[in-house]
Amino acid sequence: MKAEIVAVGTELLLGQIANTNAQWISQQLASYGVPVYFHTVVGDNMSRVKHTFQTASSRSDLVIITGGLGPTEDDMTREAAQTLLKQELIEHQESMAKIEQYYLRNDREMTVNNRKQSRVFKNAKVLPNTEGMAPGQIVEEDDCLWVFLPGVPSEMKVLMDQHVLPYIKTTFQLHSQIKSEMLRFIGIGESTLEHQLSDLIAEQSNPTIAPLASEGEVALRLTAAGNSDEEVHRLIDTKKQQILSRAGEYYYGSDEITIEEKVRDLLKEKELTIGAAESLTGGLFMERLISFQGASSVCKGSLVAYTPEAKEKVIEVPRFIINDFGTISEECAEIMALNAQRILDTDLAISFTGAAGPDASEGHAPGIVYIGIQSCNEPPEVHQFHFDGSRNKIRHRTVKKGFELLYH
Ligand code: ATP
Ligand code: MG
Repeated sequence: MKAEIVAVGTELLLGQIANTNAQWISQQLASYGVPVYFHTVVGDNMSRVKHTFQTASSRSDLVIITGGLGPTEDDMTREAAQTLLKQELIEHQESMAKIEQYYLRNDREMTVNNRKQSRVFKNAKVLPNTEGMAPGQIVEEDDCLWVFLPGVPSEMKVLMDQHVLPYIKTTFQLHSQIKSEMLRFIGIGESTLEHQLSDLIAEQSNPTIAPLASEGEVALRLTAAGNSDEEVHRLIDTKKQQILSRAGEYYYGSDEITIEEKVRDLLKEKELTIGAAESLTGGLFMERLISFQGASSVCKGSLVAYTPEAKEKVIEVPRFIINDFGTISEECAEIMALNAQRILDTDLAISFTGAAGPDASEGHAPGIVYIGIQSCNEPPEVHQFHFDGSRNKIRHRTVKKGFELLYH
């Protein structure tokens, strides 16, 4: 089954309003497991609207159209659809009566155009609009179900909830239970993960597997449909186990969890405290960590120093390290982590130094980053990375990498 959403209105193309109708309808359909293949937006132009409807109905089983049901000249959804549906448009008596009453009550004169709003296709299922004038309609054709809804979001939503969703649930015999789980991975690239799971991704049906990459992380959304809660849980769990048996070492949690929270929980569990020494990240590491509740019991603070002089004063980096190796060096990252642990009196410490760009710094290309980790009484570790992108991207990527290293 394929669904498509068509929004009619020149104001959408001009960017005056955002197509929130399509977004909302898609979310509703997704929760029923209905795949939406296209969002189309077309302006108020008869031949383009016709063409759009033709394309949509020829490639989709369900076409939901919003907008263009009003009384004005530029509202032409019905008329454009009529050329394809080959069905007569008739006045819907109840809707007409409602419009007439409205004009009578408000002591306003009704024009011919206002009658237009009550017109429906002869064989349509009419959806009474309790929030406005123009009724919605469902028209069943041989190989396409057409749904016409007003453009005004509040009217559209009521009609979707009360009529359209129950109708398509019955017509397409949709599953009653849908469940998704987002599996989160760190330390593995999207393409590598996809490669490791390529056969599972290729044969996916229920659950579906949707990879989503974000800065320094990858997620897989599993969505299962079934007739009971137990069935969907079982489907998801089976697939999840299959995936984790191949890439489990990179998995850190599901759904809303973040790597920052995961690191915080891990430190809490082991009753360890952490401190940081930050140069190019400028406090970003600590900012990320303390934005989550319960950070105070694990994180003591961060020493932020940007210039070499400040590194000497605040992080007590010896002058000879700065002179002999520079501040963007393994040696500097190492002493920064070691000193942060000592000065802040923590079990663990992490340090960040590097060239955030856009220009080279101390002869290092932008994106060269050193992350030092000092953990308990072990010898310090320093990792070197080369990140691409803008200054801020490099800084955020560095912090993410820091959390990844602490997690693993
Ligand atoms: P009306 O009877 O109000 O003319 P209509 O069915 O003809 O309703 P439109 O004229 O296309 O619908 O849109 C009415 C209003 O609804 C728009 O001015 C806009 O504010 C909002 N709207 C229309 N389409 C969308 C959309 N796709 N997403 C969000 N808002 C929309
Ligand atoms: Mg209108």
